[in-house]
Amino acid sequence: MQPFGFILWFLCYNSLMNFKRILKELNLFVQCKHYRLPLWQCPQFLFLIMGALIALTSATTYAIGTRYITDPALVAFIVLLLSAILFIISFLVVQSFERLAEANRMKSEFVSIVSHQLRAPLSNLRWALELLMSGRLGKIEEKQVEYFKILKENVSRMKELVSDLIVVSRIETASLPLKKEEFSLVKLVKEILAEFEPFAKASNVKLEFKSEKELPLVFGDLHQIKQVIENLIDNAIRYNKSKGEVKLKIEKRGKKLYFEVKDTGIGIPKEDQKYIFQKFFRSGNVLKHQTQGSGLGLFIAKSIIERSGGQIGFESEEGKGSTFWFTLPIKQQ
Ligand code: ADP
Repeated sequence: MQPFGFILWFLCYNSLMNFKRILKELNLFVQCKHYRLPLWQCPQFLFLIMGALIALTSATTYAIGTRYITDPALVAFIVLLLSAILFIISFLVVQSFERLAEANRMKSEFVSIVSHQLRAPLSNLRWALELLMSGRLGKIEEKQVEYFKILKENVSRMKELVSDLIVVSRIETASLPLKKEEFSLVKLVKEILAEFEPFAKASNVKLEFKSEKELPLVFGDLHQIKQVIENLIDNAIRYNKSKGEVKLKIEKRGKKLYFEVKDTGIGIPKEDQKYIFQKFFRSGNVLKHQTQGSGLGLFIAKSIIERSGGQIGFESEEGKGSTFWFTLPIKQQ
């Protein structure tokens, strides 16, 4: 009796587990969350839509068939054959979608894990370099200082790239926190401009800032908006020409503040403009001159501004310059 009871228990447990698994697979929301996709892009949802379309096509074929074909068996055969073909096609299409979605999920997970794992060793490296450069571990020669500086610069660049990758993976997993507060955009831009002054001077680029008086405060995540403005100004200086100009402007437009960075730089080729906010995209003309850069800044900027309730855009002409702009909502009084 005991082995029989055990087998029965095992079968029940197995069926329950399978039933749970099937329920989970049928739960669209769980599946979409797994792939980190909105419902309408989820393979399982697309399969349901395709199923509805197949049912509609079969019903229509049946209605048309009974009108023109007298033999009901032939109509049923045609309807069955058509449904089977459509079902196989949609199954194959959805399966490929599912594979793509899974590959995309694994890529995001990989980027997230690698970037988090790289953060600690890079911090240690920077800390060790600073200690060596301070001379507390022994006197260092002038030639060595030069190489230490190069090392430190490269570590900083790697740290920036890693932190951009972390932000990207947080954006993709919708886990980037948004701490909204009221702040003065004019004050923030002035502070950032002061930080960029030495870089602009070294690049022989003139910075200019104009804003309307008595502008209202904006509402957004100060830290994230700072990152967006820094990226736009950095690009405007970096992709400028010698003796070029960068003009910044803030004005009120309806219930939003409008911020603009206009440069007299190399511009963006027409054929590249549609890709400019895509992850890792760098235009062809930039790649020839500037090897530095990840192509992540504008992707991050776009998602931060849109999450803050604003809009972002640009106009550009190759060889003449670019104007990048964004808007941010004013806090309702
Ligand atoms: P990165 O500057 O690190 O390459 P971004 O996402 O900030 O990454 O910019 C993506 C690409 O957009 C740049 O590589 C460049 O091709 C183009 N771009 C952005 N800003 C400008 C600008 N002000 N002038 C010309 N090209 C620009």
